[in-house]
Amino acid sequence: MHVETLIVPPLDNNVYLVVDEASHQAVAIDTGLGSREILAKAEALGAKIVTILNTHGHADHTADDAPLKSATGAKLGIFEVDAYRLGRNAKESHWFLPAPPPAVTADLLLKEGTTVHIGNTVLETIHTPGHTEGSCCFYDAADGILFSGDTLFAGSCGRTDTLGASPAKMKASLQRLARLPPETLVLPGHGPSTTIGRETWIADLAYPVI
Ligand SMILES: [Zn+2]
Repeated sequence: MHVETLIVPPLDNNVYLVVDEASHQAVAIDTGLGSREILAKAEALGAKIVTILNTHGHADHTADDAPLKSATGAKLGIFEVDAYRLGRNAKESHWFLPAPPPAVTADLLLKEGTTVHIGNTVLETIHTPGHTEGSCCFYDAADGILFSGDTLFAGSCGRTDTLGASPAKMKASLQRLARLPPETLVLPGHGPSTTIGRETWIADLAYPVI
């Protein structure tokens, strides 16, 4: 398994291209405004994008879901309780986007424990509400990698003061992630990577995270 990190607009979003080398199949984790870059990278690697996964429904992460889906025919997955955001994003203006993203619907409504297979690579869905009600992480246990979206960043976590967010649920979600093996590589939705072992603060939270 090979992971490419692309940093794309509109908010320096980290987009990950996870390539299963045996099958040359790939999954894109979030899209931002990066569909052209993602397609070019996949082509350079000789990989076919078969699945697009959203870590949550905020428009800076989902903006290019529709163009990437139509260019690749990939199936789009998002945690079930965040799926409504895809339709809502298309109807609202966003200060960080030139125009609302085109409407798109999910093909895969992910639940806690849903596994997504890309060749021999398995990504397990971990529901981590707090930043949004349907935020989730994708965990590759075999390779020890966690795609953490806006739940866990290096040294901090996603904001919990917007619609659908919950400081109390963020606390519980971070405490849950703290139980993963310490060597787990954390690849977040913004900013640099880290490891679970380096983020010792997430195990020691005494109060809801605001
Ligand atoms: Zn977000």
